[in-house]
Amino acid sequence: MRRREEMTFLERIYIVEVVKGVLITFTRLIRNLSLHILQLFGFAKKSKASQSIQYPNDRRDYPERFRGRHRLTLHDNGSVKCTSCFLCATACPAKCIYIEPAEHPDKNVEKFPQRYEIDTLLCIYCGYCVEACPVDAIRMDTGIHPEVYEADPRMYIEDKETLMDRSKELVKIGKNKVYEKHMEKMQKLERFEV
Ligand code: SF4
Ligand code: SF4
Repeated sequence: MRRREEMTFLERIYIVEVVKGVLITFTRLIRNLSLHILQLFGFAKKSKASQSIQYPNDRRDYPERFRGRHRLTLHDNGSVKCTSCFLCATACPAKCIYIEPAEHPDKNVEKFPQRYEIDTLLCIYCGYCVEACPVDAIRMDTGIHPEVYEADPRMYIEDKETLMDRSKELVKIGKNKVYEKHMEKMQKLERFEV
């Protein structure tokens, strides 16, 4: 960006620049609108009608380090790895992790979360909980972004079972399929089928 004193007279009075801006916007509007209409009738399919991603119909591949929805990791026997140490809840700036610890029946394991919940409506997806966990019990590597629910705040609370099931699903069908399923659900939501 140039400083005011470096601008020409025409640039300083803004009118020419404003007209240029309006022309660019208007040209793009007409172009994109025409392409969208043509594509509705099956023409010009190969031309990109707009720069924006037509979510949820267009797929956008997220980078490996994308912080997606949480999951609680599991031992080989399917039990939860979390030891209810509260480090994630302490580190969480949004205070949206709720843990209720309980004595584990196995004497070698000190504690386990009887209840573990994340209020995803409050969560800011910072990843501090993942960083804080000393036993790699919580991850955000699911590759899927937050859910869209009805206007009921309780729907956004993800409980222990949901978070554990996400780990199971990831192992069972793989990250790619998990993402595809998520997108299919979003497309149905948009068509009011869910
Ligand atoms: S991602 Fe951040 S805000 Fe969300 S639960 Fe973890 S620590 Fe809390
Ligand atoms: S997820 Fe990790 S940091 Fe959080 S309570 Fe369980 S073991 Fe502790």
